[in-house]
Amino acid sequence: MPHLVTEVPGPRTREVVRRDRSVTSPSLPRAYPFAPRRGCGSVLEDVDGNLFLDFNAGIAVNSTGHAHPRVRRAVQEQAEELLHYSASDFFLPVYGETAQALARVAPMSGPVRVFLTNSGAEAVEGALKLVRHATGRSHVISFHGAFHGRTYGALSLTSSKAKYHTGFGPLVPDVHHVPFADPAKVAAGEPDEATFDALERLFRHDVDPRQVAAVFVEPIQGEGGYIVPGEGWLRRLRDLCDAAGILLVADEVQCGMGRTGRMWAVEHTGVEPDVLISAKGLASGLPLGAFLARAELMESWPAGTHGSTYGGSPLPCAAALATLAVIEEESLLDNAVERGEEVLAGLRELQRRHPDLVVDVRGVGLMIGLQLVSGAAAEALQQACFTRGLLVLEAGEDVVRMSPPLVVTAAEVRTALGVLAEALAEVAGTDAAGPA
Ligand code: PMP
Repeated sequence: MPHLVTEVPGPRTREVVRRDRSVTSPSLPRAYPFAPRRGCGSVLEDVDGNLFLDFNAGIAVNSTGHAHPRVRRAVQEQAEELLHYSASDFFLPVYGETAQALARVAPMSGPVRVFLTNSGAEAVEGALKLVRHATGRSHVISFHGAFHGRTYGALSLTSSKAKYHTGFGPLVPDVHHVPFADPAKVAAGEPDEATFDALERLFRHDVDPRQVAAVFVEPIQGEGGYIVPGEGWLRRLRDLCDAAGILLVADEVQCGMGRTGRMWAVEHTGVEPDVLISAKGLASGLPLGAFLARAELMESWPAGTHGSTYGGSPLPCAAALATLAVIEEESLLDNAVERGEEVLAGLRELQRRHPDLVVDVRGVGLMIGLQLVSGAAAEALQQACFTRGLLVLEAGEDVVRMSPPLVVTAAEVRTALGVLAEALAEVAGTDAAGPA
């Protein structure tokens, strides 16, 4: 595998960064100076010709790898025919075809209807409007550490970092946050009750559950730190929702579309959501989001109540259809399971080597988190990987997340683990490895 880094960041990258910093919004988070030029599979070349192994996949987006020939061809062919026509006002064939393909793989047993958007946040906004409209209830619940996007409705559900809210109020009213699952409790043999205790308190003191439209949940929390709830947690939440007539909305923007080795993360739990939100991996990098709902819910809002000029535009839809075909034909779900097990096994070995530095190794399929002793250590590891040609990204307070393309090979996994071993050894020898 080609994998060669000389100078990072190189002179062209520094030039790109200089221009960018002078003219773009400083609100953009920017993890490290990486300026990609082109990619193929799991490998990216930067503007200086350095080659990187991409364990970010554009933040869990490039599910079929960079520039998959089939996805490229589908987009090119669609571009020859039609670039845009509003699917809100007219009947765009590729929109209906994409909706049908998604409905076919939906993790719901009954009939499903689909709304297509341009992004994850927009799909969350749509789902939020839908659950309020369909139930006539205004209150919604989400979780501490949740990330659902940065537009106002989605932002109001988000709580993963205080700075996301600071200075932006007032947010959308009637949104409540309760603790997410705590798998550390489960691992320690203790009951994980915080979510359910908080919901009980909320319902007893603050909100009549009959006024709650929905609970929005990431079946595996993404930006919050790749947190996998213990067994039975989501089932319990589903049962609680059912008892109070509350809808369950699964935000699978980050954990869906094959990332965990099943098409949807909820499939590991046997729980069916009422609404499912997707984006990121959905169209291999073209901007597309979706929310899928039980047909009777979606049928409750009449023509004109919700629409979008670009949502489900022809090129992203063509890319999504090709993405679904590639996932199936190239057995990418199996690959996610097998490669994911290899990454987890390798990381656990590294944890044994660095017990004071590595706090936890966790994940499902190719959604994998390495929790370190501090945020400084996670940042140092991210940087040490970058200078060695491996792209990873921080999540939560102290987690380094890995979400490689679902086409990643066993050889690439070995290379990544080799880099991680070196990078961890480097971090272990610095101040960042010490107490926070
Ligand atoms: N939901 C989840 C679970 C996400 O991880 C994200 C993005 N990180 C979003 C929603 C928002 O998606 P977008 O950035 O496409 O608006």
